[in-house]
Amino acid sequence: MEEIGRKKGPRATAVVSVWDALGLVLAQEVRTDREYPPFDRSTRDGYALRSKEAVPGAQLKCIGEIKAGDTVKEALAAGTCLQIMTGAAVPAGADAVVMIEHTTREGDLVRFERAVEPGQNIVPRGSEATAAQSILTPGMRLGYAELALAAQVGAVRLECAQRPRVAILSTGDEVVLIDESPGEFQIRNSNSVSLAAQVRIAGGQPVVLGNAADRIEDLGEKIERGLKEDALVLSGGVSMGKYDLVESVLKAMGAEFFFDAVAIQPGKPAVFGMCQGKPVFGLPGNPVSTMVTFELFVAPAIDLLSGAEARALPLVEARLAEALREKPGLTHFLPARVEWREQAPEVKALRWQGSGDIAALSRANCFLVVPADREKIDIGESVSVLLRKDLV
Ligand code: AMP
Ligand code: MG
Repeated sequence: MEEIGRKKGPRATAVVSVWDALGLVLAQEVRTDREYPPFDRSTRDGYALRSKEAVPGAQLKCIGEIKAGDTVKEALAAGTCLQIMTGAAVPAGADAVVMIEHTTREGDLVRFERAVEPGQNIVPRGSEATAAQSILTPGMRLGYAELALAAQVGAVRLECAQRPRVAILSTGDEVVLIDESPGEFQIRNSNSVSLAAQVRIAGGQPVVLGNAADRIEDLGEKIERGLKEDALVLSGGVSMGKYDLVESVLKAMGAEFFFDAVAIQPGKPAVFGMCQGKPVFGLPGNPVSTMVTFELFVAPAIDLLSGAEARALPLVEARLAEALREKPGLTHFLPARVEWREQAPEVKALRWQGSGDIAALSRANCFLVVPADREKIDIGESVSVLLRKDLV
């Protein structure tokens, strides 16, 4: 898979406002503009003082207050304290802040009830980051914390990798547009809709090319168009049927395949190769197969095309709530619901009619993973579940 990222050559970038960069992959380094925190910062509302003067029962004269944002120039005189607020700069001379809850005050006099450690309730200047320190690097994905960090140091415009453009081409003589009314034996092109949504969630830009008939010429033309984008995802036409032509058409166009079947159910006929320098995925057309194989194979490739590392699959362990039986030999991905009960997640497979059953998947929030060597899993056993990233 790594090859996809490398073969692509220099990646297109764009400068994006920090407000619009959520989910993008950074293509530059960001450094701090100064130390963080820029001053010794109080983390509590209380009194700044010399820690050794705050023995239990001691009284110190309060000579003023420091609010967050106040300029603090003068050092604290011995034998005194200053009222200080959270986020304010601790004056020179003071080495601790005592929480207001641990004091009593009468007029100017503050009485301290317990001892305080040097440094307590102060984050020292420069302890989070030094000046000009590299804090965000190329390849990092920008989530809300990363965006806040960029904003903190004033990096309001960020050079980011452009979203990889992912062509989506469905195939099948029976497939009509979603706003057409299908004949009795036709179906609407729901795969293009799920694939476009999955491409978006994976960080790509979907380019929906419509549907190709199960004919060599039409497939060839539309695949040619799809190869102009950064990657091409096809649905349907990769099984063993007489009209499953995707693999042979791709081969005739120079594709080299890395795999042309996978030991999973649903999704066994999935193929992946490079064609004219572009990654091409032929996903089986059954809607749930298309969805599962996208998550397993296409989503990580979109990460690599974005200049990021492939993210790990969102797998968690859960307790099986109902015993299961599956045919061994293939790893199964069953539509299931995971619920967070008491401490541990609990999962139950849903009834379904196989990989065409989109309605069952709409009741699921995960796929329960049944390993290929398991025929029976008992209630209470621990199983892996692949979370639906769009819901959980
Ligand atoms: P195929 O992989 O082409 O053999 O198709 C497998 C099943 O998925 C068939 O029942 C197709 O009708 C159905 N299918 C194929 N393409 C789509 C699509 N774009 N949207 C919804 N279902 C599809
Ligand atoms: Mg087909």
